[in-house]
Amino acid sequence: MSRAFVKGDDSDLSGEELPERPISPYPNYVTAHGLAQLRKKYDGLVSHHAELKAAAEDFDKPKLTEIERDLRYFSQRLESAILVDVDNEPRDEVHFGATVKAAIDWTVRHARMRMHTALHLLSAVLPYPVTGGAVKEDDSRLDFDIPEAGLDKDEITAKVNEMIKADAEVRSRWITDEELEANPGLVKTMSVKPPIGTGRVRLIEIVGYDLQPCGGTHVRRTGEIGAVRVTQIEKKGKQNRRVRISFA
Ligand SMILES: [Zn+2]
Repeated sequence: MSRAFVKGDDSDLSGEELPERPISPYPNYVTAHGLAQLRKKYDGLVSHHAELKAAAEDFDKPKLTEIERDLRYFSQRLESAILVDVDNEPRDEVHFGATVKAAIDWTVRHARMRMHTALHLLSAVLPYPVTGGAVKEDDSRLDFDIPEAGLDKDEITAKVNEMIKADAEVRSRWITDEELEANPGLVKTMSVKPPIGTGRVRLIEIVGYDLQPCGGTHVRRTGEIGAVRVTQIEKKGKQNRRVRISFA
């Protein structure tokens, strides 16, 4: 298990056990402000190191080992730093140190939130493993691992719209990686595994209809989606059916 996930007692760490801080293989670009922060951090470690040493026999050995490891890292970062003069960089392109302004295109975003939430409902109507999918503003699809045909466009359309009309609440909550691993049935998407490894996974619940890990954007209630319809069901290979939806 990675050390990052073990909240152990620092005093257990001997010098041999303490891993080095990884050094990025990429150019170490810094702004003037970033370089000043690096120096401040380095100087702080140097004085903390000196203080501990001055405390004679009683000094904290594991802490000292940790500081020495960090000093090796920060001295490397200072030596490899490439100072970028941000003021003289071109203004018309995104570059290192640039300040950018991000904006949400709400019309597109809201349409995708509605579509994405509708796909959750589609996956509830068709409870088969999902092998692929795409979300667009006006047309979206899910691919299902279904061995035989016999899907009816109108029937699926009616069921999804019934869930939309019910105006069910869409909730999110976090669970731990361990809770997800203990409940593999929550994962419907075969092609995209939920992002585990950070310790927690976001669960999206459409109350009464659907529950699965998802990092996407959703509306708050299914009524916000508005009416949708299944536009096409295509056969994609022996075991795959591609189901397309759009707003009605
Ligand atoms: Zn989602």
